[in-house]
Amino acid sequence: MDFSSFAFHPRIASGIKAVGYVRPTPIQEQAIPVVLEGRDMIGVAQTGTGKTAAFMLPILQRLAEGRKDLVRVLVLAPTRELAEQIHQATRLLGKDIGVRSVAVYGGVSKRPQASALRRGADAVIACPGRLLDLHRDRAIDLSRVEVLVLDEADRMCDMGFLPDIRRILALLPKDRQTLFFSATMPPEIRRLAGSILRDPVTIEVDPGAPAKTVSHAFYPITEGRKRDLLLALLRGPARGRVLVFTRTKHRTQALTSFLARAGFRAAAIEGNMTQRERQGALDGFRSGRYDILVATDVAARGIDVEDISHVVNYDLPDTVDAYTHRVGRTGRISKSGQAISLSTPTDKLRRKWVEKAVGKPIEPCRLPGFDYGGAAVPVLAPPVRTGAAYTGSTSRYGRRGYRRR
Ligand code: AMP
Repeated sequence: MDFSSFAFHPRIASGIKAVGYVRPTPIQEQAIPVVLEGRDMIGVAQTGTGKTAAFMLPILQRLAEGRKDLVRVLVLAPTRELAEQIHQATRLLGKDIGVRSVAVYGGVSKRPQASALRRGADAVIACPGRLLDLHRDRAIDLSRVEVLVLDEADRMCDMGFLPDIRRILALLPKDRQTLFFSATMPPEIRRLAGSILRDPVTIEVDPGAPAKTVSHAFYPITEGRKRDLLLALLRGPARGRVLVFTRTKHRTQALTSFLARAGFRAAAIEGNMTQRERQGALDGFRSGRYDILVATDVAARGIDVEDISHVVNYDLPDTVDAYTHRVGRTGRISKSGQAISLSTPTDKLRRKWVEKAVGKPIEPCRLPGFDYGGAAVPVLAPPVRTGAAYTGSTSRYGRRGYRRR
């Protein structure tokens, strides 16, 4: 199947060509016809599956016709980074129809966003808090919205945006199309979807599909030797474009400084940084100025950088869900990637959650030639290669539930 089977407007087809998409991804194949029909939809899919184009291409088809001076499309996203990414994708895909997209999010000055809205927007890509703020300032009229997209709905709820979302819903016309995307569908998210969608079509992409080629490895190590093992991995098997996760903002900064001192081109991304600093780190990682991005879970949400070769869990995450999200940053859309987890003796339970997420046991690895200093770690075994990075699909175990069972 290729994009021509959707009969897109020629100026949208040229946008698809310009960004270089040849074949639709599974979510695009299923979602595009539903959205084109005007139906409400629930898309159970992660970032990295091509879901942005899955909703935005049919939306652009709608925008190619009709009035130009109204906010007809509203996309809500949990983080500034995700809002910015959706905005950029909209501009690129919609360039030839002259789409006017405006991104609004906090952490930066309100004024340029208000003036951009005043100049006119067809599509607004927004984080909920700032959108309400601008609405209070009368900088935006939401009464003509035809399509609402809630992206990463589970994340938005996790981050406490539900009351804001409800406030925004009250400002929108009842007669509209609503598209609801979520990586997981725990009961509270199902309830939210049920309360705002009309006769929705549910589309769930094969959870294993986007991460088919992710392999998973554990490297047992003591806490005191973690940094040295990380260096040895980055100089050896984890050479490439690497995303490293730590547990805290402080550890993120400390590890980044350590890696920079060791001669690596590394940047940090964590929640205490300003929006400008975070964007700088992300842009630098995307452009290749940095080879390594060290991140906390929250800051890494929705990061869309192509060709991440390795995700290193310097600290193991506390939930199945977090592991799935972290490794979802690599092995995207038919590329291969490796997830490497450093695990200390106190991580026993966390290792079990990871194995649950992966769907099979993971044999521990030992890095040949590394001086373990007599630490008791098991011998080398090849990493598990699996298509199951997503098969522990958290919906099966509940969002954070596995830990407690
Ligand atoms: P998303 O899940 O929307 O964040 O998309 C993940 C990445 O896949 C982005 O870098 C997109 O540009 C890319 N992408 C989306 N659709 C396609 C496609 N049909 N072919 C190739 N790459 C795609």
